[in-house]
Amino acid sequence: MEITFIGTGSGIPYKRRSPSGILLKTEKDNLLFDTGPGTLRKLLDIELTYKDIDYLLYTHFHLDHIADFAPILFASKYELDPRKKDLTIIGPKGIQEFYKKIVELYGIQIRNLPYKLHIIEVTDNFSTSNWGINVIKTKHAHESIGYRLKDKQGKTLVYSGDTEPFPSLSNFAQGTDLLILECAFPKPAPGHLYPEIIGEIARDSEAKQLIITHLYPVCDEVDILSPIRAKFDGKITIAEDFMQLEI
Ligand SMILES: [Zn+2]
Ligand SMILES: [Zn+2]
Repeated sequence: MEITFIGTGSGIPYKRRSPSGILLKTEKDNLLFDTGPGTLRKLLDIELTYKDIDYLLYTHFHLDHIADFAPILFASKYELDPRKKDLTIIGPKGIQEFYKKIVELYGIQIRNLPYKLHIIEVTDNFSTSNWGINVIKTKHAHESIGYRLKDKQGKTLVYSGDTEPFPSLSNFAQGTDLLILECAFPKPAPGHLYPEIIGEIARDSEAKQLIITHLYPVCDEVDILSPIRAKFDGKITIAEDFMQLEI
């Protein structure tokens, strides 16, 4: 699978980093983890549109992760170039209700879709024809979850979404080929991970490689890499928007 970081930032406007969005691309389908504001527009820079995404996977309902949900549905109705293939939305418990509420709010703008929309709430595991999907409840928002995905080749990816540290996270990520963890701030803050603990989670999970994302600007002003390296001796990368890799 090919992974592209669309947005590696957080909830405040920052020129260097857009809010959350991570694309997984295989020969068969395109999955998008979270759609913070601007994700839809940024997809164009890698030659993808609202018509190309097969699965949207949401970690939680904070705006820096889900703001472009309604705009995607809106764009997909564009009369001159409508979306035709099915779209599957996967999210935590409450995603059905979230969808119902935005339909109430935006009405016809995102109703009567010219394609089939599936909305799936996952609480444990789920599979599509190409992916095995496991989720874990995270410590951030009432509904927040993290994901573990396995492709047909057996490669695995774990994405924490936003979360405070919690003991079973490293177990959930055990042996993964790619571990994507959030790092909102350089120091411990409610609801988020921080460099020392990120290094410990990567070490305890024996991840093959670690990528850090969801950085507030303050993370770019200090050395967040060294405290992670002090705990984890595998490959560590601080993501940038449009960074791409293959696993
Ligand atoms: Zn966030
Ligand atoms: Zn959040």
